[in-house]
Amino acid sequence: MTAPESNSRMGLPPRAGTVGRAVADAAGAVDTAVVDAAAAVAPGWPRRRSRCAFDVEPDGTVSAGAPGARPTPWAATVIATASGGVWDALEFDEGRCERMLALDLCQVCGRPRGEQVFVLAAQNRSRTAVLMYGGALCSLECARLTAAQCPHYTSKSPVEVFSMPRQERVDLLGGGYANDDEYRIDGVEPIARVHPVEAGRGGRR
Ligand SMILES: [Zn+2]
Repeated sequence: MTAPESNSRMGLPPRAGTVGRAVADAAGAVDTAVVDAAAAVAPGWPRRRSRCAFDVEPDGTVSAGAPGARPTPWAATVIATASGGVWDALEFDEGRCERMLALDLCQVCGRPRGEQVFVLAAQNRSRTAVLMYGGALCSLECARLTAAQCPHYTSKSPVEVFSMPRQERVDLLGGGYANDDEYRIDGVEPIARVHPVEAGRGGRR
């Protein structure tokens, strides 16, 4: 049994700044380029790759079987550690989250959302509504990236993508910047379906 993932469990400081450092690309090749804070969180595409807190052991090493780096979500907090920066998908950077809310930006890439947004759901789901922690995404591009790379979704593969009219963000969890979008998807046909790329690399949640 393991406790739920948390920064303290992983031995990381709670919110120690926004300095990021790219460690490896998707194939595991070491990238020695130091990513400064601005580059690590710059909006746009493609997303910078860096270590994900989900993949890191308490001693700072990458977990067995985990990718060395994943695309860094624009809104995620990057936590400085002794072995480099890691990003935490469950922690929003407060400043960027305020911009995300005020300017209606995509949490993945930081670009403005349009009138149609994109939500994800496991194909074999039991519920007819989905909650997008941090809001629906701006594009099919960001949705497919998330379905293929985010441990939360790869553990639920295959994942379906739905295009929906944008709605107001609703803060269901509180905490000032824990904004969510909930969308009803019953009766809506998915526009894409993302299957797992590799067996056994789907993450632990
Ligand atoms: Zn986006």
